[in-house]
Amino acid sequence: MSDIVPHKDSILHKGRLRKFRSKAKEIVFVPEERATVFLSDGNSGRATCLGCHDAPCIELTEGELSLGGTLGAFPGDPSRDVCPTNAIDWNSAEAAPRIDPDACVGCGLCALRCPYGAINLNDDGMATVEATDPDGITVHAVDDSAPHEKLRRQGALGTPRTLFARSLPIVLEAMTDTEATRLARNLFAVTGVAASMRRKGDTNIRMDGLLRFSSGQIGIVELETGASVLESPRALLEDIAVLHGRFGVARSDIIPVSVIGSLPNVRVEYYQVIDDIENVLDIRCRTVTMGLLCMIAWNFGKIDEVNGNTFTTVSGETDLYRSIVALCLSFADEEPYPGAYRPPK
Ligand code: SF4
Ligand code: SF4
Repeated sequence: MSDIVPHKDSILHKGRLRKFRSKAKEIVFVPEERATVFLSDGNSGRATCLGCHDAPCIELTEGELSLGGTLGAFPGDPSRDVCPTNAIDWNSAEAAPRIDPDACVGCGLCALRCPYGAINLNDDGMATVEATDPDGITVHAVDDSAPHEKLRRQGALGTPRTLFARSLPIVLEAMTDTEATRLARNLFAVTGVAASMRRKGDTNIRMDGLLRFSSGQIGIVELETGASVLESPRALLEDIAVLHGRFGVARSDIIPVSVIGSLPNVRVEYYQVIDDIENVLDIRCRTVTMGLLCMIAWNFGKIDEVNGNTFTTVSGETDLYRSIVALCLSFADEEPYPGAYRPPK
């Protein structure tokens, strides 16, 4: 499957094949169940695929991949794939996406990207598409090319106990570098942060990725999903110099971010290096685990800006749990896996 050719084998319509009978107001998600869509006429029903030709569940738009301005020169991965493992494509016969259960790792990105809640994570942790409209809440609409509605979202796509979340370190270990990089990029995208990540192995640029927060802050990313997280804070220092020198970003606008699989043990030098960098250079490096990103995304949290103690690790004390509570309002004090929010003992 090509990275940049649209994945649907034919596009027979311009907009959506179906639309809701009346204006949709809200989608309520319940983990392991189909979401419910509430309509303004008082009716409701199980969320269903509207058959939209641009299929945001399958592809990002070019605009979403662009960071704009001088950052546009960053040689990011041009793939528009939403799915990090190429598990979703278009089924012309059903005019709906089709998911390969053998390739799906259950990350939920396709579900989070669907504007209508038509994909959920089932009790096996795999994504499934509802394409049958069992409650009759839609009507035929071949030419409905209106922009996608932004419906209010309640509930959560999954919990810390959902298969993907609790087995994330194992999933990451089995992923190729490209898959892990796309997973990180797209998790940022669904949490409201525009991201461009270089293909792993591309030696033209040192840093792993760039982020643009809606506040205008620019994040630089070092991505380390394996055990070697120690080098990440040091590499961020070099990245700051490159971003300032080559891309002209003011030092005060740069947020250095280590994106890692799991927090290392408190005794590991990682925390000391971060402390040293802050004490000596007055640069505050941030840490985000993939598990934290996943839980923010599944709870529809948005990361608009990074200030104060958000995503900090100081001398082994982390503010990751407090950060997610602030972003997602109410949140159970449960880690999906050891090291997702707190350094393992
Ligand atoms: S699953 Fe959602 S985003 Fe994908 S085609 Fe159907 S309605 Fe559109
Ligand atoms: S849940 Fe993740 S892995 Fe599965 S099809 Fe959707 S995007 Fe792909």
